[in-house]
Amino acid sequence: MTNIMILTGAGISAESGLSTFRDTEGLWENHAVEAVCSAEGSATNPYPVHAFYDARRGQLPLVSPNPAHVALAELEAAWIDEQRGQFTLVTQNVDDLHERGGSRDVLHIHGELASALCISCGARFPWKRDLLVAQDCPVCDDGALRPDVVLFGEATCGFSEQCRTMWDGVMAEREAVTLT
Ligand SMILES: [Zn+2]
Repeated sequence: MTNIMILTGAGISAESGLSTFRDTEGLWENHAVEAVCSAEGSATNPYPVHAFYDARRGQLPLVSPNPAHVALAELEAAWIDEQRGQFTLVTQNVDDLHERGGSRDVLHIHGELASALCISCGARFPWKRDLLVAQDCPVCDDGALRPDVVLFGEATCGFSEQCRTMWDGVMAEREAVTLT
């Protein structure tokens, strides 16, 4: 048994046409990071934060998974179906291109555009459209939904709970492999 953990970042989505945050024509070029991507900005004035992520979410139907997304999905399928070991795909990306490329189990450590989070009760919901600042939560009936993404000033989600054991296992018996 050989366990695999793969980490992907903005580069894989850039190939599908999604802007990365940090490149020269990146998403922040016309935005103040503090206003649109920070926990403090969200608490002070959530409107720019919602608008920024609404625009990002609105791009998703316009882009498609590229061969790298599909290749990772095929690797996962083969690895699991042939019972060769565990396969964990961790992504820093908030888009849904891994899922649409066929990946079965994706851990989004920076959250997901296609999800809304209630800041009152913590419930999460699949979300495809614009997210109103005063959108009521279907669970607790509070108007407190926000984009389910990790903002600056917040901890990455999921990693410690879901991946720590896996990560430790990988690191304990790792064979260093660098993909280029
Ligand atoms: Zn709620």
